[in-house]
Amino acid sequence: MGKMAEVPIIREEEKQLIQRAYRQLLRSIKSDMDEQDQRNIRLAYEMAVDAHSKQRRKSGEPYILHPIEVARICAEEIGLGPTAVVCALLHDVVEDTDVTLGEIGQKFGERIARIVDGLTKLDGSYNKDTNQAENFKKVLSTLVDDVRVVLIKMADRLHNMRTLGSMPRHKQLKIAAETSYIYAPLAHRLGLHAVKTEFQDLCFRITEPEAYAELSQRLQETRRERTRYINEFIRPLTTKLDEIGAPYRIFGRPKAISSVWSKIRFKLVSFEEIYDLFAVRIVVDVEPIREKALCWHVYSVVTDVYKPIPERLKDWITTPKSNGYESLHTTVIGPKGRFVEVQIRTERMDAIAERGFAAHWKYKGVNNQADVYETWLEGIRELLENPNSDALEFISDFKTNLFSEELYVYTPKGDMKVLPKGATALDFAFSIHSDVGYHCTGVKVNGRLVPMGYELKNGDQVSVMTNRAQKPNEGWLKMVVTGKAKSKIRSSMKEERREQGMIGREHLERKLKNMKADFEPAVEFLVKHYGFASHIDFYYAISTEAFNVREELKQFRVEAGRLHEHLPELKPVPVVEEPDQLLVKPKKDFTGKTRILVGGEPADQYNYSFASCCNPLPGDDIFAFLSQAAGLKIHRTSCPNAVHLMANYGYRIMKAEWVSSPDSTFVADLKITGIDDGPGIIERLTHEISTKLGVNIRSFNIHGDEGYFEGKVSLFIANTDQLNMAIRTLKNLRNVSTVTRVE
Ligand code: MN
Repeated sequence: MGKMAEVPIIREEEKQLIQRAYRQLLRSIKSDMDEQDQRNIRLAYEMAVDAHSKQRRKSGEPYILHPIEVARICAEEIGLGPTAVVCALLHDVVEDTDVTLGEIGQKFGERIARIVDGLTKLDGSYNKDTNQAENFKKVLSTLVDDVRVVLIKMADRLHNMRTLGSMPRHKQLKIAAETSYIYAPLAHRLGLHAVKTEFQDLCFRITEPEAYAELSQRLQETRRERTRYINEFIRPLTTKLDEIGAPYRIFGRPKAISSVWSKIRFKLVSFEEIYDLFAVRIVVDVEPIREKALCWHVYSVVTDVYKPIPERLKDWITTPKSNGYESLHTTVIGPKGRFVEVQIRTERMDAIAERGFAAHWKYKGVNNQADVYETWLEGIRELLENPNSDALEFISDFKTNLFSEELYVYTPKGDMKVLPKGATALDFAFSIHSDVGYHCTGVKVNGRLVPMGYELKNGDQVSVMTNRAQKPNEGWLKMVVTGKAKSKIRSSMKEERREQGMIGREHLERKLKNMKADFEPAVEFLVKHYGFASHIDFYYAISTEAFNVREELKQFRVEAGRLHEHLPELKPVPVVEEPDQLLVKPKKDFTGKTRILVGGEPADQYNYSFASCCNPLPGDDIFAFLSQAAGLKIHRTSCPNAVHLMANYGYRIMKAEWVSSPDSTFVADLKITGIDDGPGIIERLTHEISTKLGVNIRSFNIHGDEGYFEGKVSLFIANTDQLNMAIRTLKNLRNVSTVTRVE
C-alpha cells in the first residue's frame, strides 16, 4: 500500500501507539508458544520497527502499524500461530526496505524466509501487461508449498481494504476490483467466511457508496423489529432443545449487507420483500462420533415446532462442500408465515465454517476432513505445472477452481466425482485423467450418448469413450468450464502450434541464409519489428502463410549479417500495439464542447467512446479504460465488466468525470415488464415517454405472452436525473410491474 517517503520523526505519542498495538498483538495470540516463538516474535517486531522507521502510510500514521495489525488479524481473526505472526510482521520489509531475504533466513530460518519471499511482490523487471496476474501467480505458487502465505496475504489485503479511505477514488476502485475478482472468491474457497463477507461488504461500500449508506440505514432502522421476531421464533424451541442433553447455542445471524444488496439488485426484489434477512443458527457441542445423529435430532425438534419446506433441505454433513463446509440447512415457516432459514451444526463444524482452512488443521483426521483441501491443492499444483500457461490464462483457469457450487456425478463403477456446477461431459473426461480428456470421442450419460458439451446434472452416471487418434481442437475450449480441462486443452494446442511452427522456422532459416543474415539476431529483430507476442507465434504465422516471408523480407537489406530497413518511411504498422502508443494523437478540431475529463484533461483530445456494455450517462460514476484497439472507452463504475478490467489491467484505468454540457444526449436502455390487457400498450408507453416526458425514443421492442409483456426501450437521455424521472413515471403507470435500467 502507498506510503510517503522519508518522514523520519516518530513522535513520542506515536511510539506509545506502536507499543500499545504490539501488546495487543501479543494478547491476541491464542496458540501455545515456546521460548523460541516468543523470541522470534520480539525479534521480528524489532526488525520491522527499525526497517519501517522512516515510512508513513498515506493516512500519515507510522507504517509499522500496518504489519503489526496484519499480524494481529492473522492471530485473532484467522486463527494462525506464531510462525505466521512472525512472517506477517516481516511481510513488507524485503519489498520496501533494505532488509534482504538472506538476513531473514539467517535470523529466523529457511521456512520463514520462504514464506516472506512468497509475500514479497515481484520486482520491476517484468511485463506491465501481466504484472498483477504475475503477482497472483507467484502468491498462488507459494500457496501449494505453504498455505500460510495466502492466509497472510488475505490479512494484508483485509487491513488495506479497511484503511482505504485515504487513497484517491480511482485507486480505491482498482483495489476493490482486485479484491472482488480474486481475493473474495479465494477467501470463500479457503473457507474464511468472515473474511470473505467483509471483503464483499467493503467492496460494496467503495463501489456504490450511496446504495451502501441507504441500505445500512434501513437495516439499522429495522433491527429491533428483527430481533423481536427472532426471539419469538426461538422461544418455543429452547424448552425442547434443553431436553436433548447436550450443550447448545441458538442465535439469529444477520445477512451480510452485500448479500442483501445483490438480492435486491439481481433478483429485483424490494427491501421489504426480502424475508430472509437473517438465519437462525443452532450449534451443539458433542463428541465427533455422535455429531451426525445429534444434528438430525435437532432437525426433528425444529421441524416438530415449525413446518419445513422440503425442497430447501440441504445436507452438507453427509456430503461436505469442497471447501470443507459442513452444516444442515432447512427453511421453515415461522410466526406470521415468514420463511426462516435454520442452520444446524456442531462446534467443530462451526469453527470450520467460520475460519475454514486455519481451523481445519485442528480437526485434521476427524470425519474425513483432511482430504478436501489436499484434493484442491492438488488441482492447483497441476495448473501450476503446466509450462505453457501464461499468467493471465493461469488466473482465469484458477478462478474456475474457486466455484462455489458443486455437482456430484458417478463413474460407471459407482465412484463419486465432485465437479463445479456447470461442468460438462468433457470436463468429466479430463477430471478422470488428462489422457482420457485428450482422446475423448464421445460420452454416455446414464447409458445415453450425449454431446461432449453436455452439462452434467447431480447424480449422472458418466462413461467416456476414447480413441488414440483423437486430439483436442479450438472448439473444445467452449465446451469445458473447469480450469484443469481448459489449461490441458490450451497446452495441447500450443504444442500443436509449436510443431506446426517448426515448418515455418525451417522456411525462414533458408531465406535468411540466402540473404546472408545471421539467424538469431534476425529473428529477434523481426519478432520485435512486427510485434509478434513470441517466436512461436511468428513461426506459426509463417507456416500458415499468414506472414509472407518472401514479400516482407524485401524491405530489408543485410549489413554485416544484420537486417536493416531499406526505407525507414515505409515502416509497417506493428501487428500488436504497445500500450503506450495507444493514446491517440490529439485531434486538431478541438470543439470546446467537453463532456468528460479524463485524468483531469478534456477527453476530446483523445479518441474516446462510450462502452456499449453499460452506456454511461452524465451523473453516473465512470472511469476510462485504455483499450488495445479502440482508444479510450468510458465505462460505468458499476459496469458488469468493470471488475474484470480493473483487476487485470489496473494500469490502463484512468480517472474520468463528467463536466456539464447542456446539449448532448446519451442512450439508456430500459427493460419494462407488466400486464398486457389488450392492444394499445405500446401507444400508451410511447405517449407517456415522448409527449409527457419529452424524451426521444431510439427504439422500442415489445413482446407479450399470455397476458404478460416484456419490452426494451432505448431512450436518448440528457442525464441521470432525467432517466430516474422517466423510470419513476413509467413505474407509476397502470399495468406496469417493473422498470429497470439494463446494465
Ligand atoms: Mn502490506
